[in-house]
Amino acid sequence: MQNPFMEEISVERPLNITYQVRESSRARNVRFRLSLDDGLIVIVPRGFDVRRIPALLDEKRAWIEHVSRRLEQQRRDLEADPPSRLPEHVTLQAIERSFRVRYMASSVSNVQVEERPHGDLIVFGRVESNDVCRIALRQWTLDKAKQHLVPWLVAEADRGDFRFDKTMVRCQKTRWGSCSTRGTISLNAKLLFLPHDLVRYVLVHELCHTVHPSHSRAFWDLLRAQEPHADELRHVLRGAERCVPNWLEYCPTRGSSAAGTA
Ligand SMILES: [Zn+2]
Repeated sequence: MQNPFMEEISVERPLNITYQVRESSRARNVRFRLSLDDGLIVIVPRGFDVRRIPALLDEKRAWIEHVSRRLEQQRRDLEADPPSRLPEHVTLQAIERSFRVRYMASSVSNVQVEERPHGDLIVFGRVESNDVCRIALRQWTLDKAKQHLVPWLVAEADRGDFRFDKTMVRCQKTRWGSCSTRGTISLNAKLLFLPHDLVRYVLVHELCHTVHPSHSRAFWDLLRAQEPHADELRHVLRGAERCVPNWLEYCPTRGSSAAGTA
């Protein structure tokens, strides 16, 4: 039996959200995508009856509300600490190092980053461009990550008797680490901003994938044997992106900056 009042309450009021509908010839099922940039997008298979969407949204209400709250928090964080604001301090929790950043204009045509004694990090050159400074700091972070994470991974591999082919360190958007079937372990340079025990968890997690590629029961058993606090750390890791500073998380890439000047 239809109850228009119920429909209004369950769809409009609790969600209080507008959405866009996109038809996709490849979509087999209805999918929902929620992001800060685009809001809620409902992807439907071609020919789908859009009148069914409100009921589907209602079913997904808990998820939509959960993600909306997270995005709202993210928006507030971005407002409080805009990515374009250059850092005065850089703290690399993973290796327990803290740096005070100083910006010095000089005649150097690009921007360079140099570590000095007593925890000073000097950014010098064309420092009037925030974007160029951020790209230089990102590169410094990447170098620092290679310098520390690669030997750390090797040490953990030796300790647990794991073998891997090679390591790559990159600034990735969504993953802390991954392990290919050929045994290449990729690590996210942003791990440097996480506490030591979380980084170790990621390294050991990826090393366990060299033995069990999927998240099978055997994989978790092996991981728990290597790291008794694995379940707890896995849970904490879910909120760990908050440790990554916005200047790095939303850093312009070399590519986009080059496109602007080409
Ligand atoms: Zn995994």
